Amino acid sequence: MSDCIFCKIAAGEIPSSCLYDGDGVYAFKDINPQAPVHFLVIPKEHIGSAAEITPENSHIISKCFEVISSLAKTQGLEKGFRVITNCGSDGGQTVPHLHFHVLAGKKLGERLV
Ligand code: 5GP
Ligand code: ZN
Repeated sequence: MSDCIFCKIAAGEIPSSCLYDGDGVYAFKDINPQAPVHFLVIPKEHIGSAAEITPENSHIISKCFEVISSLAKTQGLEKGFRVITNCGSDGGQTVPHLHFHVLAGKKLGERLV
């Protein structure tokens, strides 16, 4: 999608603080962190949200979670972390390119974020 900000970030057209780039997956620090550690993991191909996951593209979701597991080790998240994806307007999604928030670095509240 030519006007999608996360497609542009994944393509290197908009700068970001990259943590991982490979296997069709890109991970980068959130520009407005909601926890001491807050990064986003996205498929490099455009998928609008979790509502657009299909049998044809779902292989990339397992790749995203492999990257999350790997980054949790390299980023020192052994005490735990939270993965969130917001979907659609009621779900609070503001960027219409599927992304997984990874939040960590403090004891998070037991409800939502
Ligand atoms: P959503 O509200 O869609 O679940 O999350 C979008 C996230 O993307 C927000 O946490 C927001 O801070 C982050 N974000 C939006 N624009 C940019 C950007 O240009 N760069 C980075 N690194 N993060 C962004
Ligand atoms: Zn996109």
